[in-house]
Amino acid sequence: MGKFAFAVHGGAGVILKENMTPERESRVRAGLKAALETGRKILSKGGSSLDAVTEAIVILEDLPEFNAGRGSVFNHFGKHEMDAALMSGQDLSTGAVASVTGVRNPVRLARAVMEKTPHVLLTSEGAEALALALGLPFEPAEYFYTEHRYKQLQQALERNQTQLDHADDHGVGKKFGTVGAVALDEAGNLAAGVSTGGMTNKKYGRIGDSPIVGAGLYADNRTCAVSATGEGEFFIRRVACHDISARMEYLDENLAQAAQTVIMQRLGDLGGSGGIIAVDAAGHLAMPYNTPGMYRGFLDDTGEAVVRIWAY
Ligand code: ASP
Repeated sequence: MGKFAFAVHGGAGVILKENMTPERESRVRAGLKAALETGRKILSKGGSSLDAVTEAIVILEDLPEFNAGRGSVFNHFGKHEMDAALMSGQDLSTGAVASVTGVRNPVRLARAVMEKTPHVLLTSEGAEALALALGLPFEPAEYFYTEHRYKQLQQALERNQTQLDHADDHGVGKKFGTVGAVALDEAGNLAAGVSTGGMTNKKYGRIGDSPIVGAGLYADNRTCAVSATGEGEFFIRRVACHDISARMEYLDENLAQAAQTVIMQRLGDLGGSGGIIAVDAAGHLAMPYNTPGMYRGFLDDTGEAVVRIWAY
């Protein structure tokens, strides 16, 4: 049995210390820590990377602090349309859902697409019908309503602007609150997952990078598992997560080099911003971001849960 490794993220962007209340900061840090502990519990008992990633994302989807599940942002029509995906590095199996409404935990639905259908990606009513058929929990619109998100929508509507989550009070900043996780389990299997409400005031039917394999996530036991957050359109155009894996495979780069190049150069060259968390087959972690901050956490070499927003 080998070692296990685990990391989570809760979004990257213009997260400025001066705009962060101590209460919000401690809620965010506690949420990331709870997700890390959930992953640790599963991995330390020899559980699978796929289970660790799924269950950690469920924890974050249930918290209003993060732009996924319960805390999802509003689209242009004041509705929530959520995207989520999971990928196993063992056999490259994938399950994803896009533009789903009312489903409490989109990541569980993505898992069902992976395990109970021959497909990779289901959208909107089709995905919701699968959730209904499987008896997955739904929640009413009020469950997904948060005052903070509603204000963000009003602000974005006034400016006629599509806004990434948590634009700062002056509307110039950007923060992406998508959540994700990556894991290596003791059996040597990698997995990645991601879940998001997308962008405030996004157009009806807009789908971001999160449910797109290779763009918002990727996992291959031969290279790495990657989960992204940021301006989805750029991650799709760069096929950013697969690009990291491909650089390792074709150019023989290590994870740190490949991740750094894709986020700091290739994504930035296009004008895109965001970050990723990644783990390789030996358990090394990389978490580059080209924004002022990224909500993230990982288990360090001693097994301690470490949470960071900026350099700390
Ligand atoms: N990547 C997500 C999207 O474009 C946004 C985010 O990371 O918050 O839908």
